[in-house]
Parts: sequence; structure tokens; C-alpha cells
Amino acid sequence: MNPLRTLILAAAGNDTVRRVVATAPVSRDVVRRFVAGEKISDAIDVTSDLVGRHGLRVTLDYLGEDTTDRATAERTVRAYLELLDQLHDVGLAADAEVSVKLSAVGLAVSETLALDNASRICAAAEQAATTVTVDMEDHTSTDATLRVLAELRRHWPSVGAVLQAYLRRTLDDCRELADTRVRLCKGAYAEPASVSYVDPHEVDLNYVRCANVLLAGSGYPMFATHDPRLIEIIGERARWHDKAVEDFEFQLLYGVRTGEQLHLAAEGHVVRVYVPFGEQWYGYLMRRLAERPANVSFFLRSLVSRS
Ligand SMILES: Cc1cc2nc3c(=O)[nH]c(=O)nc-3n(C[C@H](O)[C@H](O)[C@H](O)COP(=O)(O)OP(=O)(O)OC[C@H]3O[C@@H](n4cnc5c(N)ncnc54)[C@H](O)[C@@H]3O)c2cc1C
Repeated sequence: MNPLRTLILAAAGNDTVRRVVATAPVSRDVVRRFVAGEKISDAIDVTSDLVGRHGLRVTLDYLGEDTTDRATAERTVRAYLELLDQLHDVGLAADAEVSVKLSAVGLAVSETLALDNASRICAAAEQAATTVTVDMEDHTSTDATLRVLAELRRHWPSVGAVLQAYLRRTLDDCRELADTRVRLCKGAYAEPASVSYVDPHEVDLNYVRCANVLLAGSGYPMFATHDPRLIEIIGERARWHDKAVEDFEFQLLYGVRTGEQLHLAAEGHVVRVYVPFGEQWYGYLMRRLAERPANVSFFLRSLVSRS
């Protein structure tokens, strides 16, 4: 991992840094650039704008992870249920699904609790006429996440999986899941070399190998990347595999390469924007800043100039 990225992630864990950043009002430019806001109504407003004005699709993430108690997991589930209700009521469910982290709905308490809670969210998504994608977290939870996913799919086959190209196991997982709905990303956690490719070039090569397997399958691949080279290669490979534009989609994060999001949509591609919201935005924001250290100086300047 890039040493600057490691440093930023370490600083993010420092209490003083956390206090300074977390007490910045959420409306400040940089936070707002990557996070829709703290409330469900903020998430609905941003979704409505992306769908209505820009022709994009959305997946919504209620921020919160590493929940260690049932009460917090329950609050997260209720937020998703409320969100899904509102998406349905305002007529956005056809274009917006939700992304759920099992750690936010109780995986650390027990796999059964995470499955029960995720099932409630899937049932509400079905009621609202949309679906769910189960985010993938660090490698110690990959097996549990795939087990829960398999259970969910017994009732809701459209539930999306996420596979991370930096993991050595992922090519096999792609072969296993190629006939289903799968998001392919590079992977966002600090993983040991024993289980992951460390060299970014190796990760990119594995991304392309995995993309080929998914495009050869009968499922619905969702390519989550901002990498211009990978986006171009996927476009080419999709043509080789005779995939129409509606047979796969690109996914990008809210606030990242927004020009490219519109450009891909204008070319006729399905583009889905991952929109996070909620009070627990700090960890998410730090990971985004660490991915692109150029954003950090912009962030610090805006903190200083407004405080
Ligand atoms: C929709 C979506 C869902 C995701 N879900 C998961 C998940 O469930 N589990 C998981 O582990 N990871 C997930 N990720 C994160 C992913 O694994 C990567 O950490 C992240 O997307 C960065 O990788 P990249 O493919 O964009 O390539 P990178 O090599 O990081 O970036 C390629 C280029 O994109 C641009 N770029 C990238 N990041 C930024 C930024 N923050 N600001 C500005 N420009 C930037 C730069 O031009 C950069 O050169 C998801 C990502 C997306 C887009």
C-alpha cells in the first residue's frame, strides 16, 4: 500500500485528528462532496437529483460499520427500512437500490443476527420494488459474507455480491458467481500479502481477469472503478463478449470523477453512483481521502479557511 495512504489511515485513527475533522459541520465542502448528508431526506434529495437531472442510477449506503451491539445494528436496520419506504413513496425505487455492510447489521455479534437483519432489509427492498447489494469488507469476513449472501439469495436471487480484485481467491469466487449479480471492485482495506496482491499493477491485471470471467457468465456484472484504463478495457471486453449496454453497469462513488459519470451515461452506459449518507461519515471520508492524497490538502485548506 502507498505509504502516504497508510499514514492518512493511521492519522484517521488519532483522537485529536478525529475531533478536529468530526466537529467540522457536515455541510463543509469536502464532506458534502463525498457524502450526501446526515439525514434520510438528504439521501433522497441527492438521489432525486442524480436520477432526475443526470439520468444516473444510485446505490445508497447508510454509513456505519463495525457495530458490536444489537441496539446499534437495530438502528441501522430501521434506517434502511425507512429509507426504502421513502424511495418507494417518492418513485425512486426503480433507479435506486441499497448497499449494506454486514458489519453494520451485527456480523460481529453473530452471523445469525447479520443474516436476520439483512433479511429484513431484503424483504423491505422487495416490498419497495428494488434490491440490495451486500458490500464486501476485510478478508477475515469474506467467507461469512458469502455464506450470508448465499442464504439471502435463496429468497431474493437478485441480491448483489461484491468481489475484490486485490484478493488472490477472487478469480475462483468470480467463476463461482459469474451467473449472478456481482460488483467487482479493487478492494479498499489494508490486506496482508498472504491473501492479496500488493502491487497495484497485479491488482489491475487480476481485475481484468475477473472482469473477463464475469462478462463470460450469464449474470449481471457491475464494474465499480474510477480507473480510466480499466473502464476502457471493460468497454472493449464487453463488446468481445457481445454484451449490450444493458447487460452490465459501471459504478462510481458519489463525488469522484463526476465528469466521467456523466460522460459514460451520455455514451449510453448504465452508470450507478454509490451514495453514502448518515452521521457516521468520518471513517468513510478518511478512506476516500487516503485513496487520493491530493484531496487531503484541499480538505485541510477548507477546514482552516472556515474555522
Ligand atoms: C461503487 C463502488 C462500490 C464499492 N464497494 C466496495 C466494497 O464493497 N468493498 C471494498 O472493499 N471496496 C469497495 N469499493 C472501493 C474500491 O475497492 C476501491 O477502493 C476504490 O474504488 C478505488 O479504486 P479504483 O478502482 O477507483 O482505482 P484507483 O487505482 O484507486 O484509482 C484510479 C483513478 O481513479 C481516480 N480516483 C480514485 N479515487 C479517487 C478519489 N477518492 N478522488 C478522486 N479521484 C479518484 C484517480 O484518477 C485514480 O488515478 C467500491 C468502489 C465503488 C466505486
